[in-house]
Amino acid sequence: MAVPISLELLAERAKGCRRCPLAEGRKTVVFGEGNPRASLMFVGEGPGEVEDDTGRPFVGPAGQLLTQILASVGIPREEVYIANIVKCRPPGNRVPTRAETEACWEWLSAQIALINPRIIVTLGNTPTSWFLNSSEGITQLRGRFHRWRGGIEVFPMYHPSYLLRNPSKAKGSPKHQTWQDIQTVKERLALLSPTGRA
Ligand code: URA
Ligand code: URA
Repeated sequence: MAVPISLELLAERAKGCRRCPLAEGRKTVVFGEGNPRASLMFVGEGPGEVEDDTGRPFVGPAGQLLTQILASVGIPREEVYIANIVKCRPPGNRVPTRAETEACWEWLSAQIALINPRIIVTLGNTPTSWFLNSSEGITQLRGRFHRWRGGIEVFPMYHPSYLLRNPSKAKGSPKHQTWQDIQTVKERLALLSPTGRA
C-alpha cells in the first residue's frame, strides 16, 4: 500500500477494513491515538472489550495502568502514540493469529512510517515476537534496546495486563522491572530527541 499523506486519511481508510476475519466480530476499528509526531510509540496486542466499545486503544484496566506507568516518569499519555498489532478485537481476547497480524501490518507499518518514532515499545510477547522475529520470550528480551528498521529502536516491556495479574512491587518483580524499564526509555529519549519530549 502506498503510504497516504496523513494519519487521518489512513484512519479513514482503515475504518472499513475487511482484510481478515476479525472484521466479523468487531464493533470498532481501534486505529490508535496520540501525538502524530511522537518520538515514542507503544504497540500492544489487540483491542479488548472496552477498546472495541470506545474505539480507543488502552483505555480499559490495562490501559489505565499504562497511563500510570507513563505518568511515573512524567510522560503525559497525549505526548506518545499508542496502537496495537491488530486493530480489531480478537474474540474472547485471544492472541491474534499470524495471518491476522500480517493482514493488519499494512496499516501499522504505514502508521509507523508517518509517525516516524525513535523508539517503539512493544508490550508483551505478541508484538515483541512480531517485531524482533525472535524465539526468545519477553522475559529475555525486555529492558533492552533492539535495532529495528530505519534507525528505529524497539524496546520490549511486559504487557500491563500481565502486571495486573502479578501485582507485587518487590525488588525483581515484573512490576519493579517495568518501573525501571520506563526510566530507561525516558533516559534514552532525552538522548535521542533534542527537546527531550516524548
Ligand atoms: N490490551 C492491548 O494489548 N491493547 C489494548 O488496546 C488494550 C488492552
Ligand atoms: N506474556 C506476555 O505475553 N506478556 C507479558 O508481559 C508476560 C508474559
